[in-house]
Amino acid sequence: MRVLIIEDEIRLARNIAKMLDRESSWAVDISTEGEDGRHMAMTNPYDLIILDLGLPKISGLEILQYLRRNNMTVPVLILTARDAADDIIQGLETGSDDYMVKPFDMRQLVARCKALVRRSYGRAAPVINIANVSIDTTKHQVTVCGKPVRLPAMEYRLLEYLAMRAGEVVSKADIVDHLYDFGSDKFSNVVEVYINALRTKLGSGSQAELIHTFRNQGYLLGELPT
Ligand code: CA
Repeated sequence: MRVLIIEDEIRLARNIAKMLDRESSWAVDISTEGEDGRHMAMTNPYDLIILDLGLPKISGLEILQYLRRNNMTVPVLILTARDAADDIIQGLETGSDDYMVKPFDMRQLVARCKALVRRSYGRAAPVINIANVSIDTTKHQVTVCGKPVRLPAMEYRLLEYLAMRAGEVVSKADIVDHLYDFGSDKFSNVVEVYINALRTKLGSGSQAELIHTFRNQGYLLGELPT
C-alpha cells in the first residue's frame, strides 16, 4: 500500500509516516503544501490520503473538492484542529471518509487508516485467508498453516497488496506503483525477486500454487478465476 500525507507540520507528518511504516510496512510520500500535495494526489495511485485542512497555498478542503470533482475515489482522512466541528462536517460533506482531531492518538490514526484501505478494497474482515496462508492486516502478521512467518517489509508490503486484490491479475507496473514511494529506486525486475521469496516462504505444505504468473500480464494470488 502507498499513502500520501499532505501536512505542513513536517514533524507530525514524519511521525505518521514512521508509524505507518512500522505498523503496516506501507510506502509513504509526504507533501508539506497544498499545490504540490494536490498535484501528487492527482498523479499517483495512492491507497489513502491523509489530508491536513490548514495548509499553505491551497487548503485541504480545496484539495478534497478538486479530487472528488475529478472523480478520484481514493479514501481521504482529514486532520483538523481541536474544536473544529464545522470543519469536520464540511470535510465529510465534501467527500472525506474519516477524520482525526489534533492532537490525536497515533495508534488510533493507524487503525483508522487500515480500516479505510481495507474497505476501499471491498474487505470488511481484517484477516485475509488464502489457502493455508493467513494475513492479519491489523496485527501486521503472516502465518502459514498456523505458524508465524516473519517477512521483510517489502515482502509483506507486496503480499498485503496482492492479498487485498486476491483473485485478480495484478500487473507489475501496478505493483511498482503501490509498493514504492518517491524516495525509493524503482526497479520492476525486483518484483520478481520478491515474488520468488514469497513463494518459497509461503509455499511449505501447500499443494496448489499460491501465486500464479501470467506472462506479460502480472501475478495473481489465490485461486484462479473459473
Ligand atoms: Ca496545518
